[in-house]
Amino acid sequence: MLKNKTAIITGGTRGIGLAIAKKYLEQGACVAVAGSRQETVDKALLSLKEYGERVTGICPDLCNPEEVAAAFASVKEKFGSLDILVNNAGISSATKLYDYSLEEFTKLLDVNVKAVFVCSQAAARIMREQGGGVILNTSSMVSEYGQPSGCGYPATKFAVNGLTKSLARELAKDNIRMNAVAPGVTRTDMVAALPADTVARISAGIPLGRVGEPEDVAEAFVYLASDKASYVTGTVLKVDGAAMT
Ligand code: NAD
Repeated sequence: MLKNKTAIITGGTRGIGLAIAKKYLEQGACVAVAGSRQETVDKALLSLKEYGERVTGICPDLCNPEEVAAAFASVKEKFGSLDILVNNAGISSATKLYDYSLEEFTKLLDVNVKAVFVCSQAAARIMREQGGGVILNTSSMVSEYGQPSGCGYPATKFAVNGLTKSLARELAKDNIRMNAVAPGVTRTDMVAALPADTVARISAGIPLGRVGEPEDVAEAFVYLASDKASYVTGTVLKVDGAAMT
């Protein structure tokens, strides 16, 4: 589904991002995983070594426009195009309002919102010049419901939805589609660290009866990146087992 396409995936070194990288590679794409440190990028590349020359790694500061532009240009130079950007890097929070520091709130805004803006701008500049592309964002189920602590996290995911819907309208004329995927509770490192009975309790509250796997979420990213979604833009696709908390 993604043959001859090149994708950059931020936060592609583990969890949902690494699952997206694997699916994209299975579907024939060339992939650049973007991580925050060379060490984690190298570890991810080792786990993807069966894909040989079709995979590479970058680690720009996602909030630095010059670093991001240079890294994205290097990917285009290596693979010949930049067709798909997945803004997936993110951090969460469970801090209560009374305990929040401005530093923590600002860090959430930087990683979850400012980086999406900076990376989308850099990718769109390349995509407009080459005649089009696809930008996808990782939102969250909390972008619909909020959450009872860690208010900064849902605030950033509401903002991601806002960028998705606005830029889909702005960039359509440049043949650039923009969509988001809103996962529910997904079995990444964070969930794997929870006690089994806690995971069982969470699962019991989800109509489909289980937490999501990173691969469940990655499949939605394959569809939205592919030409099968050529008339889909500005949408936030829920992949959450119909969870409502
Ligand atoms: P994870 O912690 O396993 O992965 C997060 C990724 O983001 C890592 O690759 C990490 O290196 C990267 N990252 C974090 N801070 C960064 C920074 N400053 N610069 C560059 N990269 C940075 O978590 P995950 O569950 O795979 O999360 C991926 C995305 O999915 C996030 O946007 C998260 O908000 C979203 N999400 C996760 C769940 C869930 O239940 N796991 C649910 C809904 C949404």
